Amino acid sequence: MFQEQMMLRIPGPTPIPPQVERAMNRPMIGHRSGEFSRLFAETATRLKRVFQTEQDVLVLAGSGTAGLEAAVSNVISPGDKVIVLVGGNFGERFVKIGEAYGATVLRVEARWGEQIDPELVALTLAEHPDTKAVFATHCETSTGVLHPIEEIARRVRATDALLIVDAVSSLGAVELPMDEWGIDIVVTGSQKALMLPPGLTFLALSARAWQAVEESRAPRFYFDLRAYRKQLQANTTPYTAPVTLIFALAEVLTLFEAEGLTAIYDRHLLLQAMTRSAIRALGLPLFTSEAAASPTVTSVGPCEFDVEAFRKTLRNDCNLAIAGGQQHLKGQIFRIGHMGYCSPADLLQAIALLEIGLIRSGVQVELGQGVRAAQAVWLEQKEVVHHG
Ligand SMILES: *Cc1c(COP(=O)(O)O)cnc(C)c1O
Repeated sequence: MFQEQMMLRIPGPTPIPPQVERAMNRPMIGHRSGEFSRLFAETATRLKRVFQTEQDVLVLAGSGTAGLEAAVSNVISPGDKVIVLVGGNFGERFVKIGEAYGATVLRVEARWGEQIDPELVALTLAEHPDTKAVFATHCETSTGVLHPIEEIARRVRATDALLIVDAVSSLGAVELPMDEWGIDIVVTGSQKALMLPPGLTFLALSARAWQAVEESRAPRFYFDLRAYRKQLQANTTPYTAPVTLIFALAEVLTLFEAEGLTAIYDRHLLLQAMTRSAIRALGLPLFTSEAAASPTVTSVGPCEFDVEAFRKTLRNDCNLAIAGGQQHLKGQIFRIGHMGYCSPADLLQAIALLEIGLIRSGVQVELGQGVRAAQAVWLEQKEVVHHG
């Protein structure tokens, strides 16, 4: 029934606001037209605020991984030593990309579900002063952990290494002031906190990172960032721009400006608190500690019931899509995405459905307990706001 009501509470792709959907129905225009150039130039400028940077924000056609690959191929030459911080599936992906480009990869690891220890990063950098770059994941989507980038950046800034951050599932939902913290490359994608369909990746580079781009000897063509920067200065893109997605992006930026970045960050913190409180009230285990939890995705587990059957029940009976675990966590945990176009009301609905799914899966929970706990968190936050 009502297939179009399927609620996407997975950590990407995320739901698209109706204004943004409507923007994509605009008739096509030429990517070299004056109209497109004006729109593109304006969009690129507005994006800087979301990245909290004075640097150019480059927009490329491709999924988030294309942006990660561009970050590697534009600064790493074969034989360069890099440190990759690995605490989940996306950290592992950075390792694979680095190795594909011939880098010598050192790993600094955290157990899945835990944060990377910034001291360990500093120690590894001290042992390897010839490190070209450190690759970090801001929100490790596979575990729901937010890694301490500010602390890591402080350690990396004390060395010659560049800091490259995968912020695909955090930028636009969680504070990440690129210039202030001294991050050299920030990469994100369209289909997570930015409320867009999949298909765009974004990169911003520091002056030091641009220097490394000039010096890199790795082969690259479509993702040669110098071409994107050069064309951006002429208000265009080197190859045919994904025009429809740029229409949508302009609308997203309007929504961002209307809500305000601080309010957006606060909303995600509220969604995180409501979700965690509901899970606790239902007597289920949270996979990450309070201090390590991401405001964009909450992992629940390890679970004693059949997680995959539970997810299927939710999808089929309740029109609610949530994510399962990845790799060795498959069948162990489930993940609730609450980033982008997600309000407290949306979340209450998801939690109410979660309770039905749990009971139908034979899990002993008391109906309404999760909802009530989440409502209380929301009410409390409203009171704090009202009382100043
Ligand atoms: C979603 C995601 C990516 C990008 O994946 P694509 O499927 O290539 O868009 C990269 N890193 C993180 C942390 C992600 O959550």
